[in-house]
Amino acid sequence: MSFNIAIDGPAGAGKSTIAKKIAKRLGYIYVDTGAMYRAMALYLLRENVEPSETDKISAKCSEADISIGYENGEQVVYLNGENVNGLIRTEEVGNMASASSPNPDVRRKLVELQQKLAESKDVVMDGRDIGTCVLPHAQVKVYLTANSRVRAERRYKELTDKGVPCDLDKIEKDIIERDHQDMTREISPLMQAEDATLVDSSYMTIDEVADAIISLI
Ligand code: C5P
Repeated sequence: MSFNIAIDGPAGAGKSTIAKKIAKRLGYIYVDTGAMYRAMALYLLRENVEPSETDKISAKCSEADISIGYENGEQVVYLNGENVNGLIRTEEVGNMASASSPNPDVRRKLVELQQKLAESKDVVMDGRDIGTCVLPHAQVKVYLTANSRVRAERRYKELTDKGVPCDLDKIEKDIIERDHQDMTREISPLMQAEDATLVDSSYMTIDEVADAIISLI
């Protein structure tokens, strides 16, 4: 039987940094489910679908073949065979991902792919509904959060380090809006699973968070 670690939480809580680190330490595979929703969002944006066009999202999502692979130890997301890693980290794609992820057809398709991956492999999987829906039997579940200002500051630093001009208040506003959308949607809303451990990373270093999670295993 494979060993599954589920890490859920809001945008910018540090899930991917931590999940990657833990996967490396344990020799597990890291699965970034947000990247799959982002690849789907990129497809929808390319097809000029508006976030409010529910029927069109349902119809179009079946045309997007999303898969993941690993190159040099990094997860790569393929959209209809194209490596889209370099195109999915924009605010536009993130906002479209949040707007299209409540769609049941999008979720059904991506959850199936995620469950298949975890069935045969030891994984650290991060997302919004991993502990509650995708891997309800995961051996370790963590709900990783941090306050919205701290999360906005982390994102601000990430962008400015890359030379991307941005505004801290606007980033925080977007984060709060995205949390609200993810927490109040009807299907698989973001919430802490009953059996998940809450970790607030606001004033913890990356290593402190990784150690805290590893100590749960
Ligand atoms: O984690 P990331 O910011 O890349 O996720 C982008 C969006 O994808 C989230 O705001 C959320 O709406 C959606 N998502 C989801 N379920 C997951 C992972 C991401 O609904 N398991």
